[in-house]
Order: sequence, then structure tokens, then C-alpha cells
Amino acid sequence: MPKRNLMALEQTLAILKPDCVKKELIGEVLKRIQDAGFSVNALKMTRLSKQTACGFYAVHEGKPFFELLTDFMSSGSCVPIVLEKENAVADFRKLIGATNPAEAEEGTIRKAFADSPPHNIVHGSDSAENAKKEITFFFTQQELLINQG
Ligand code: ATP
Ligand code: MG
Repeated sequence: MPKRNLMALEQTLAILKPDCVKKELIGEVLKRIQDAGFSVNALKMTRLSKQTACGFYAVHEGKPFFELLTDFMSSGSCVPIVLEKENAVADFRKLIGATNPAEAEEGTIRKAFADSPPHNIVHGSDSAENAKKEITFFFTQQELLINQG
């Protein structure tokens, strides 16, 4: 049997946002993600404080939607997930669709389930470099190693 080319695998960070959890869509959204070929490497349910939400989205500080976004992200539980696949970062962004669900393509997760920003069901890292930072923002080394055993 040919060996799997582990070198080509990439990780990205997804977050099922508080609207996804409140709408009882965790299972449905995760199924779409796994059906699209992503493996779940680590997963937890947590609740961000306002301060932690501001830290996670610090790049958007000063933008008009920052308060709304960080209030929303700290309004309930969310589910951060480490996903693995070849070309995971770009492929996951494609799977979730445009930031504004009204502009998201047919067949994307945001098109199917999201209302309007900031309520857009799911987060996806926008670069491999940010994916690494975001993964360590949510998961300890111990949690990340569990799946390698
Ligand atoms: P994310 O980083 O959550 O994956 P994204 O990369 O598609 O989303 P960003 O530009 O990084 O989009 O914006 C971060 C989040 O801020 C969006 O997902 C959305 O929840 C919220 N947001 C972005 N623009 C607006 C807006 N104009 N009004 C309200 N909320 C917004
Ligand atoms: Mg973003």
C-alpha cells in the first residue's frame, strides 16, 4: 500500500461560532466539514470572555464592527477545532464562503446556515502562519499531541 504523504498535510483552525452552537448546528456543520475531507485533530467547547475575544480578533481592533464582533463571540459557547488536510487553509476558506453570507456562494457553509455578519456560523484561519498562532491560542501542546499517539 502506498504511504500517505504526511509532508503535504496542513492544519487550519475552525471555530463553530456561538450562533452555530445556539442553532444546534454543531453536528450538521461538522458533518459538512468532514465530508469535505477534513480530519478533526483536536476539538473542544469553550466560552470566550470579552477580553479573550478581543485578543483573538485583535487584528480588527478599531474597525467599526469590532465591538459587535467581540460581543457576539463572547455571547455563548463556541467550538474551536483543529482541522487537517492537504491545502487545509485555502480549502477551508472555500468551504465556508464569503464573510457576508449574502455574498457567499451556493454550497458553502455560510450560504447554507448563516444570517448576517457578525453572525456567520464559522471562523477559518486566513493563512498557514495565522493558523499556527490561532491553534496555539486555543489548544495546549498536550491537547495537540493526544491525536498523534
Ligand atoms: P473569520 O476571521 O471569523 O473567519 P473572515 O476572515 O471571513 O471571518 P474577517 O474580515 O476576518 O472575516 O472578519 C472577522 C469577523 O468579523 C467576520 O467573520 C464577521 O463575524 C465579523 N465581521 C466582518 N465584517 C463585518 C461587518 N461589516 N459587520 C459586522 N461584522 C463583521
Ligand atoms: Mg478573518
